[in-house]
Amino acid sequence: MNWRDRLNRFMYGRYGQDELSRFLLIVGFILLILDLLFRIPGVGMIVLLILGYNYFRMLSRNVPARYAENQKFLQLKDRVLGFFRGGRGRAEDLKTNHIYRCPKCSQKIRIPRGKGMVEITCPKCRTRFRKRS
Ligand SMILES: [Zn+2]
Repeated sequence: MNWRDRLNRFMYGRYGQDELSRFLLIVGFILLILDLLFRIPGVGMIVLLILGYNYFRMLSRNVPARYAENQKFLQLKDRVLGFFRGGRGRAEDLKTNHIYRCPKCSQKIRIPRGKGMVEITCPKCRTRFRKRS
């Protein structure tokens, strides 16, 4: 048996790598470099914990639990990325659009700027009103 077969046999039924383990590896690596540069007390310990947790996950036979952790991580990642994207998107949006509220049902309505006086029909209650865009 060569080393590759041995490794395959050893890893059989174990969880292995996923997005979370790659992320933890990168975080651990960054912290390691920060620790080497600035000698921050406690960071070496955190790196050990992160890498230890990472190996524990990779070698774990409890695949559903590891899978659930990864799903949670991906959801969190989506939310964080969405927050940054959403924040930038809203600022861009206000440059090109006005936000008005319907006088009757106060539904928010987005109107493109620079079209002069426009008649707006509320998409919710069909009330018509005029606004400068
Ligand atoms: Zn309305």
